[in-house]
Amino acid sequence: MDYQAILDEIYEEIQPELKRGKVADYIPALAEVAQEQFAMTVTLEDGTVYSVGDAKKKFSIQSISKVFTFTLALDIYSTELYKRVGVEPSGNPFNSLVQLEYENGIPRNPFINAGAIAITDSLVSHYKDHYKTLEVIMNFVRELSGNPSLSFDPEVANSEMEYGDRNLSLAHLMKSFGNFENDVTNTVMTYFKHCSITMNTEELSRAFLFLAFAGKDPISGREFITCPKTKRINAVMLTCGHYDASGEFAFHVGLPAKSGVGGGIAAVVPGKMSIAVWSPALNRYGNSHAGTLALEKFTTKTGVSIF
Ligand code: GLN
Repeated sequence: MDYQAILDEIYEEIQPELKRGKVADYIPALAEVAQEQFAMTVTLEDGTVYSVGDAKKKFSIQSISKVFTFTLALDIYSTELYKRVGVEPSGNPFNSLVQLEYENGIPRNPFINAGAIAITDSLVSHYKDHYKTLEVIMNFVRELSGNPSLSFDPEVANSEMEYGDRNLSLAHLMKSFGNFENDVTNTVMTYFKHCSITMNTEELSRAFLFLAFAGKDPISGREFITCPKTKRINAVMLTCGHYDASGEFAFHVGLPAKSGVGGGIAAVVPGKMSIAVWSPALNRYGNSHAGTLALEKFTTKTGVSIF
C-alpha cells in the first residue's frame, strides 16, 4: 500500500479543519502554540517511516505520557496495580473530581488524571525518590523513541503547577481515602514533568511501535513488556484513551490510541504499525480535532483497524 500517497492526501483534505477547535488554554504555556499546524507519521515493523507536515516539530505530549508510566507500573506491580486504579471507561472529563469521591478514591482507569497521578505515585514508591522516578521514565521514553536526548519542558511543567489546583485536589482526595503514598506536591510535580515531555510525531510513532508488536520492539528485538500485558495496555487505550470521547473515537477510528491536550495522538495497529498525529487545536473533549479526523481518514482509506 502506498502509505505516503495516503498521508499526502490526508494532509490536503485536513487543511480546512485546522481552523476548527481550540488550543488548550488552561495551561498558559500551551496556549501560546500556533493553532494551524499538522503532522502525521506512520512507522512500520521494519522501521520504514512515512511522514507528512511538521513531523520534526516538537510538541508537549501531555497525557500520552500516561501510556509510558502505565507500562512501567504494570511491569513492576502486575495485577496488584488494579487495587489502586481500575480499568473501566470513566464517561467523565479527564480531570473530574466527582466520580473519585463517590468511588472512594479509586480512579476508574490509568488515563484519567487521577489514575495517572496514582500511577506516578506508585512509581515514586517503587523507586523511592522523585528524581530517580523521573529519570527512569525519561530513559524509558528515550529508549523507546530512539532519541537519547529527549527531554521535558520545565516551563510547561511549572505552568501546570501554577494552575494545578484541580490535579492537586485529585491527589489530596486520593490521599484522604488512603490511596496515595507519597508527598502530594512533589508527586504531582513529577506527573507534570512527564506530561511536559516534548516529542515530534516521528519520535512518538517510533516509541509506540512496541505496543503494536506484543510488547517487543521489532527493530531492536528488545522486549519491553510481556505480550499479555501489552494486550491490557492496548485494551485500556481503546476503551479509555480519549476520556469521555473514547466510544466515539473507537467508533470512528477503530484503533487503540492515546491523546494529549498538546494535540498529539499516538495509535497502534497491532501486528502492523504505529501512528502518531499532531495538531494542537482540540475538540470539546480535549482531544485533537484534526488529529482525530486524520486518523479516521487513515483507517478508512487503508482499511487498517482492529475491527
Ligand atoms: N497534564 C495535563 C493535565 O494534568 C494532562 C491532561 C491531558 O493531556 N488530557 O491536565
